[in-house]
Amino acid sequence: MIITKEYVDVINSNKNKYVDSINKYIEKCIGKGLYVYQWEKDKSIIMLSSQDKNNTDIVLGNKLYDIYSGYGKDYVSSMYSYLANDITKQFLDGYMRNGICIVDNRHAYDRTGRYSIDDDVKTCNFCGKTWHKHIKMVEEWIADDNS
Ligand SMILES: [Zn+2]
Repeated sequence: MIITKEYVDVINSNKNKYVDSINKYIEKCIGKGLYVYQWEKDKSIIMLSSQDKNNTDIVLGNKLYDIYSGYGKDYVSSMYSYLANDITKQFLDGYMRNGICIVDNRHAYDRTGRYSIDDDVKTCNFCGKTWHKHIKMVEEWIADDNS
C-alpha cells in the first residue's frame, strides 16, 4: 500500500489517538509502500516494512512493538516471506479507526483523552471497550500500637 501525504495528514489531525513513534514510521513511508506482516508462528510479532514480500524470500522492517516502545528504531528485523502474512489492510483500517488500541489492546497505556468516565463505567474513546467499576471490601487487621 502506497502511503500518501493525505493519509499522514489524517493521522496528524488527531495525534492523541495515535502512537507518535508509529506515526513517524508511517510518515517515513510517504511515497513508498507500507506493508504490515504478521508472523505465522507467533501472531504477536507484527512487522512494519516498506518492502513488498513478493519480490524476495526475506522481508525487512521493524517490529511493531519495538517501534511502539521506542526501541529498535535503527534495528531492522527480518522475516521469511513464506511465513509472513500480509495484514496491511486490516492493520491500517484498525489503526485509523481505533488508533493506539490496535497496538495496546490490553489498554495498559492511560493516555490523556483515551477514556471517558461516567459514574461506574469507563469507556475507551477510541475502540469503545468498556469497564465497570467494582468496589471491593477489604478486611484487614491493623495493630493498635502502629508497629
Ligand atoms: Zn480502546
